Amino acid sequence: MKRRFSRQITLGGISIGGDSPIVVQSMTNTQTKDVPATVHQIKRLTYAGCELVRVAIPDMESATALRQIKSHISLPIIADIHFDYRLAMAAIENGADGLRLNPGNIGGRKKVKEVVSAARDRAVPIRIGVNAGSLSKSILKNYGGHPTPEAMAESAMGHIQMLEDFDFRLIKVSVKSSNVPHMIAAYQLLAGKLDYPFHLGVTEAGSFVSGTVKNTLGIGVLLSQGIGDTVRVSLTCDPVEEVRVAYEILRALGLRQRGVEIISCPTCGRCQIDLFALVEEVERALSPITTPIKVALMGCVVNGPGEAREADVGIAGGLGYGTLFKKGKVLRKVAEPDLSKALIEEVRKMVN
Ligand code: SF4
Repeated sequence: MKRRFSRQITLGGISIGGDSPIVVQSMTNTQTKDVPATVHQIKRLTYAGCELVRVAIPDMESATALRQIKSHISLPIIADIHFDYRLAMAAIENGADGLRLNPGNIGGRKKVKEVVSAARDRAVPIRIGVNAGSLSKSILKNYGGHPTPEAMAESAMGHIQMLEDFDFRLIKVSVKSSNVPHMIAAYQLLAGKLDYPFHLGVTEAGSFVSGTVKNTLGIGVLLSQGIGDTVRVSLTCDPVEEVRVAYEILRALGLRQRGVEIISCPTCGRCQIDLFALVEEVERALSPITTPIKVALMGCVVNGPGEAREADVGIAGGLGYGTLFKKGKVLRKVAEPDLSKALIEEVRKMVN
């Protein structure tokens, strides 16, 4: 797929846009001013592969907490600001690497100018983050009161113009909606008009299962069209799951490879081993591995040997045993109780 041209920006040392890899980001759900809890969650996100982290800045205490949080983490941090430009100023002052802020919402040109000037001085990019749920009344009026893709795109263009008026171009853009076709259409509309990098996301996507489906469709369709430079999967659950899902989307599209990819069959009446338990155990044991590696766990000899041969390491189940494959070759037959241990050992040998 040909990737949409986007200008490259740098946020806390991470390149976004241009030909840089699609960046995975997430957002904490702790109280930002609770420094130990926020740092702990950011460390878990880092371990999972998160590359940029956003935190909510609802008050001055949260803005000033950024300095302390930053001293304990390695990820660039983005301050999420609404309405009060003083929070943006304080976030920059306390070391925010990026801002998410809509300039039309912070109280007029003079305040935008101040924020832009501080952001420029420290090379802090600003994401224009339009959300279908919070479009201005004046924009909604032009679209029959509905947050259509055109309304979202118009809102984004207005906010962008405010930054461009001050000659500020360290910009990322997002146009999120919980309505997947609307979100896709809004990004597509802007893709023809802008060369700023895009942050992709479906907002308020829901719980793990429904949210994963929505995020995968919205983000996946756009990425498959070459649109998008950084992704944030949004789920009502532990943000570590957002990072895992983001990498699965990128992997499925061949855009990023990280960690172990498990190929496993759904099982059927031919399966003669406890494949569900095996998959769970293997997935858990191999989750700390970051080297891209393919593991096939198959229930029987119908499709098992084929998939197991294609993987780096694989198992095809039989009655009370499994055949262990490595790099396309049969290694040996292993009794069912020893299958997970044998497979995990072979994978570890490959990555050590
Ligand atoms: Fe069924 Fe075997 Fe296919 Fe698994 S690999 S779904 S057990 S036929």
